[in-house]
Amino acid sequence: MTTEIYLDGNATSAVLPAAIEAACRTMGQLYGNPSSSHASGLKAKVILDQAHQCARRLLGVGEGRLMFNSGATEGIQTALLSALVALRERQQQGVAIGSLLVYGATEHKAVPEALAHWNRLLGLNLSLHKLPVQADGLHDLAALRACVSEAALVCTMAANNETGVISDLAAIQSVLEQSASQAYWLVDCVQALGKLDLNLAATRIDYAPFSGHKLYAPKGIGMLYVRAGAPFTPLIVGGGQESAQRSGTENMAGIAALGTVLAALERGDTFRSHAELEDYRRQLAEALRAALPGVLFNHPFEHSLPTTLNFSVPGLSSRELMDVFDAAQVRVSSGSACSAAKAAPSYVLDAMQLPLWRSAGAIRMSFGPLADAAMIADACARISRCGAALRSACLIPSAQPNVAHDGLLQLGVEGACSWLLLDAASRSCVLIDPLAEHTARIEAFVRCQNYRVQAILNTTPGQDNGELIDALGRHAVSRVAADAYGWPELPEQVLLADGQRAAALRLGSRTLAWLADGSQRHYLLGQAEQGQLSAAALRFAFSTTVAGAAALRGLTGEQTLLCPSRDEQNQFCVASQHSAPCATGSSLQLDQTALAQLLQAHPEARLIDVREEFEFAASAKLLPLAAPLHSVPLSRLTEHAADWLSAPQVPLVFICRSGNRSLKAAQCLRRLGHPDSYSLSGGLALAPLAQAA
Ligand code: PLP
Repeated sequence: MTTEIYLDGNATSAVLPAAIEAACRTMGQLYGNPSSSHASGLKAKVILDQAHQCARRLLGVGEGRLMFNSGATEGIQTALLSALVALRERQQQGVAIGSLLVYGATEHKAVPEALAHWNRLLGLNLSLHKLPVQADGLHDLAALRACVSEAALVCTMAANNETGVISDLAAIQSVLEQSASQAYWLVDCVQALGKLDLNLAATRIDYAPFSGHKLYAPKGIGMLYVRAGAPFTPLIVGGGQESAQRSGTENMAGIAALGTVLAALERGDTFRSHAELEDYRRQLAEALRAALPGVLFNHPFEHSLPTTLNFSVPGLSSRELMDVFDAAQVRVSSGSACSAAKAAPSYVLDAMQLPLWRSAGAIRMSFGPLADAAMIADACARISRCGAALRSACLIPSAQPNVAHDGLLQLGVEGACSWLLLDAASRSCVLIDPLAEHTARIEAFVRCQNYRVQAILNTTPGQDNGELIDALGRHAVSRVAADAYGWPELPEQVLLADGQRAAALRLGSRTLAWLADGSQRHYLLGQAEQGQLSAAALRFAFSTTVAGAAALRGLTGEQTLLCPSRDEQNQFCVASQHSAPCATGSSLQLDQTALAQLLQAHPEARLIDVREEFEFAASAKLLPLAAPLHSVPLSRLTEHAADWLSAPQVPLVFICRSGNRSLKAAQCLRRLGHPDSYSLSGGLALAPLAQAA
């Protein structure tokens, strides 16, 4: 049993085993060119013809055209080229064609991009017109009615890839018919194949592109339907294959595989029924509701594909949700696959007028009609584990008491960070330079840990922390009167290494003191003894910038780490006394083989997982590594760096999901003077899959 649960079926799917067999047979034995007249060619031609006939029956093509091609993006180009060439001819003949190229606001990007491209290339100069959708994701029919008389072409999808919302094609058709519109009509049927009944020739649809890889066929194979009588211009000409509709020797492996999938669809013995799929969605939705309090589904289930769930969770970003699911080996996507690299809001959810937090924080969970009850049950169990991991890390509210956190917590965002100084024993904390972006996170953390905030300090004067204090609740924050930097007016003092006295604050066994430097302040944290904070005992110094920390000379020791709150280079922290050049290059990065060699040569080496605590918790039982893995999230790196530098040095190998975060950690430790720091390149994503424990 593999441990990966693939819930990203709208992005692509695995290939049906029977389709793999068919493709392999076509490549290994029946490899003839279907255009050849010898026996090898004839055998290949049979496969091609059978796939064609099956597709025509299944899609109800009637007298229309059906051609195999490379996928939906190609199908969309062919369809739009065909329609726009015909429009240009009519325009040149002086026929009124309308001025608008209308497309649904939630179309896949391939549609508006191709519309703009061919409109420009063909010199048509029509206007692209985005047709709005309603809050439920359905096309706004009133808006369509308002523009249909000017529409030269209308593009609407059958089902949306991000939300699974099923368009009301019958209603769109009736708007087109009632207005006796001459507009051509393209319907992107990519997400509908295998999930909705299609009888294309019985509709007014002119063009319908399909893609094999969304339904258990390989990537690089697709189909295009063109209604009988609708204009057609081939995109690719040459040897005249596919009845001269799409030249180029056919992708026979892809066609054989897609043909096998279509045959299975037609037989009706392979894929789950609509009712079974709906039941799977219900189970997943229940598991999500139980694990992630407040989860909101971003589309109405009653008119969505039963195989898609799109949701957002208050207080959690899509990055955090993606990370926790990925850690539990549940593959989901944020927004659409194409934009997953950027945490940009989803244009589909924006078009449905969802608030920004829902649109930017959305997760799509999608499965295919081959899903089975065991996989869904396993997915539900993992969703529950993800919820528990997020709760224990205080990212979502929890009724259970949490393990108290101790030490430093650094929350970073774009070159700046907030510092939290935590003391588990006294259940109290001090905040330094809290950023407005972290208000919700700090509030959730403090509330869930049930900490009392002793002080909210700033390294520069006059910062307004009112919003944070309100969020924390006045009862959670010390009421002692404070100065312009937030320092509470308390009598305690400590003697610093250079003999000067400084105001002090007790944080459990540690002492915090401040030092003026022009209008700025530095905060010094260490273990004071007999009222003295020696240079050797000074562990951390907090300043606005690293440069500003020059004023600390004479107070810091070899072990002291400088912790800036403006950290443009994302350094985490720097050594106060020396700094090794930033290390890059191959020696810093280990691949799997180099890691195995290092572990053999240095069994004492420590493997450190720098993913967030909730990712570690969600994946603890699944990690495929032999050696024990210690969890030290990047947000805790500074605290632990101090320990690793002071203890006898053993090699440190940092590990994360993809190798990015671990590289930063290894670079930081080398800079701090730990030369045996490494990063596992490619991260856990490239590690071999483990068996579920
Ligand atoms: N249309 C929709 C609705 C899709 O989901 C996709 C793929 O994501 C495409 C078009 C493009 O399909 P292909 O990748 O086969 O070109």
